[in-house]
Amino acid sequence: MAIALDRLARSFLLTELVSGMALTLRQFFRPKATISYPYEKAPLSPRFKGEHGLRRYPNGEERCIACKLCEAICPALAITIEAEPREDGSRRTTRYDIDMTKCIYCGMCEEACPVDAIVEGPNLEFATETREELIYNKERLLDNGDRWEPVLAKRLELDAPYR
Ligand code: SF4
Ligand code: SF4
Repeated sequence: MAIALDRLARSFLLTELVSGMALTLRQFFRPKATISYPYEKAPLSPRFKGEHGLRRYPNGEERCIACKLCEAICPALAITIEAEPREDGSRRTTRYDIDMTKCIYCGMCEEACPVDAIVEGPNLEFATETREELIYNKERLLDNGDRWEPVLAKRLELDAPYR
């Protein structure tokens, strides 16, 4: 009987409606938890593993020495490297491909590289319409490295104490 009366009183006094409206009003004045992507972006950790790039030294020389450690450690078998010695005796890649459709963004290639050549940058906006566009060749990777170099160098510097 008491329960029925309680329900009746709630129905007539609209207490649930009023408490719901009060909750809405409180939330209305609080800072928003959502952002308007892509116009606003959330902060990224310096360790975020995004699109890959191949870095160069300041004199323009490729850092990669074709040791193939990244290819060997890649758990997804996404990296394909071919290499041969140059005329000056240095060893450089003639082919460096990453199949981004296989990559799981684990960062192990970056960890294995002894010269910080292959790195994963902050770029996460590289969706494509075809799978073919996600097979990155050496030229594309070097372009990425050149484009993101200041950011990549800063990220490596921030991460250095933990490596
Ligand atoms: S991030 Fe991981 S899966 Fe992707 S290429 Fe590097 S080692 Fe392979
Ligand atoms: S990117 Fe680094 S780990 Fe991979 S082949 Fe070049 S030097 Fe070796």
